[in-house]
Amino acid sequence: TPAIEAVDLTRRYDLDGVSVEALRGVSLRIGQGEFAAIVGPSGSGKSTLMHLLGCLDRPTSGVLRINGVEMSGLSDTRLAELRNRTIGFVFQSFHLLARTTAIDNVALPLVYRGVGRAERRERARTALESVGLGHRMGHRPSQMSGGEQQRVAIARALVGEPKVLLADEPTGNLDTRNGTEVMAILDRLNAERGVAVVLVTHEPEVAAHARRQIHVRDGRIELDTALGTGLDTA
Ligand code: ADP
Ligand code: ADP
Repeated sequence: TPAIEAVDLTRRYDLDGVSVEALRGVSLRIGQGEFAAIVGPSGSGKSTLMHLLGCLDRPTSGVLRINGVEMSGLSDTRLAELRNRTIGFVFQSFHLLARTTAIDNVALPLVYRGVGRAERRERARTALESVGLGHRMGHRPSQMSGGEQQRVAIARALVGEPKVLLADEPTGNLDTRNGTEVMAILDRLNAERGVAVVLVTHEPEVAAHARRQIHVRDGRIELDTALGTGLDTA
């Protein structure tokens, strides 16, 4: 079963009588353990696609399956539950709680899953150690560098042991050195734990970490370099 399977997804935004077709029929499969980059010009639909793949948003039409489960039949509550168990998210701007320590930021997804406090702390500590931040557990975001904050965000994405990690411009707010460090962590998660990684990036050197490049333009996939693994996107 593919980790993600999308068939003919469309997404239209209607604002004040103006309609924008952000996605116009996108089909693709992301296999278990794959590493794919979504690339393309600004406004081409990359973020919209990521939000759909991550079930943060619902398509206007089309079918989306995560680990073989079709999303369209699920209530918002069930969708959120499934998302919480299978998908981790990393954003360009970290999205950490500002007044909350690293360990509590990382433990937060486990609160929603009903994990008890002691186990939450243990798992959050392990996740922080796995991104090299065992020594920053009690720090708040403002006390950490951008690179460290993004590593906290990665630990938070990982703490629930997702099968898929979705990252929207994960290095966009980082300098080259911190960006390289963050990409090394994503490489390692993919290689050692078999987590499927799908990232959006503008940076060719970041996209080069992926074994597959999905080029989006005007709401469609115009080129998918891992031919044979995707569905027919014509
Ligand atoms: P990218 O991530 O490639 O820059 P987006 O997915 O953000 O592209 O946007 C694709 C298109 O959809 C753009 O024309 C954008 O203006 C439009 N769009 C994105 N989000 C919204 C929204 N929430 N409401 C209205 N239009 C949107
Ligand atoms: P990096 O080596 O990841 O680039 P920096 O050189 O920016 O990190 O910072 C080194 C250390 O200084 C960080 O680990 C962090 O704990 C601390 N630090 C960085 N920025 C701040 C800040 N604005 N306030 C307090 N401490 C900071």
